[in-house]
Amino acid sequence: MTSKNITIPFNKPFIVGKELFYIAQAVIENCHTAGDGPFTKKCQVWLEEHLGCRKVLLTHSCTAALEMAAILADIQPGDEIIMPSFTFVSTANAFVLRGGIPVFVDIRPDTLNIDENLIEAAVTPRTRAIVPVHYAGVPCQMDAIMDIAQRKELLVIEDAAQALLSQYHGRYMGAIGQMACLSFHETKNIISGEGGALLINDPKLIERAEIIREKGTNRSQFFRGQVDKYTWVDMGSSYLPSDILSAFLFAQMENAEQIVARRNRIFDLYREGLRPLAEKGLIQLPCVLEDGQCNGHIFYLLTGSVEERTKLTAHLQNQGIMAVFHYVPLHSSPAGIKYGRASGSMDVTERAGDCLLRLPLFYEMTDQEVCFVITSICKFYRS
Ligand SMILES: *Cc1c(COP(=O)(O)O)cnc(C)c1O
Repeated sequence: MTSKNITIPFNKPFIVGKELFYIAQAVIENCHTAGDGPFTKKCQVWLEEHLGCRKVLLTHSCTAALEMAAILADIQPGDEIIMPSFTFVSTANAFVLRGGIPVFVDIRPDTLNIDENLIEAAVTPRTRAIVPVHYAGVPCQMDAIMDIAQRKELLVIEDAAQALLSQYHGRYMGAIGQMACLSFHETKNIISGEGGALLINDPKLIERAEIIREKGTNRSQFFRGQVDKYTWVDMGSSYLPSDILSAFLFAQMENAEQIVARRNRIFDLYREGLRPLAEKGLIQLPCVLEDGQCNGHIFYLLTGSVEERTKLTAHLQNQGIMAVFHYVPLHSSPAGIKYGRASGSMDVTERAGDCLLRLPLFYEMTDQEVCFVITSICKFYRS
């Protein structure tokens, strides 16, 4: 048996139109297809100016940016890094590659972000950093997190993969921690297929970041005429994207605010339309605290149980609607058990892993399509 054809996909990457034009410019006019060409610089300046962060280095993924951050944080075998378990694997993997131990802390029941009130109890003499993940583009409680980090002398590395242009107390996500990482993967708001950026707010880390990104060489300083020899000076790898991809990305950046505005509109339509079900206590909806502003990256609902989620997913699929879930909590996954440990109860994380369902949300989704999804969900809960 085949299920009914999907008429509303979960995601549809949005192409703004100028991507191929800029790629042609990179290849034919600039003749620069390797890394750090004119388009990479344009994207970096755009991010520095729009987000208000000190220095931006484009990378070929957010995973790569997280790996760079782990090297810059000088993570040594046995060092502990505090993070949520309800996140994508790269948040933890980047530190495990350096021998670090992810220490998982439960999330808040309202925002599903790391519970800042549980962080301090997870700190040990081996703790080196806190990695808050702004899940669904919803800001973490950064004031409290920065305060703990300062008192305990820990680094804060924001996993802002989902949070481009989200704000907390009027500041953009990625501009608050010592370092932050962005993703431009096809599934995110602003895309280049694969892509990412390392954001650095602590000026002491900038020089070494450039070296690590350029295979451990002082190539960047050499091209600026700051050193007269180009040589191997530190550990590193190749973390920079081709300027062809940066050309694609720059076209997206020019339309970033418009893309986020449309996604926020869809987010609001969902929230209004599903509010009656939430008020009856049938489902739980996303929560953005009053000091934060969201970027419409993900809209989800929480069902009452994993069985209910399975039934709702099948019901929506029958209506031609694709809804998906994530994440298998890291603390209960095979690698998470091997390389990390949980600090305290993981009840809220486990509930989110069992009951969270992501609804379709993409730039070109029409208001009618959003209403159809809402109506289909209401029908499910009426029966
Ligand atoms: C998407 C994502 C990543 C990884 O991004 P890539 O660019 O695909 O490497 C890391 N962390 C979180 C929270 C993400 O959502």
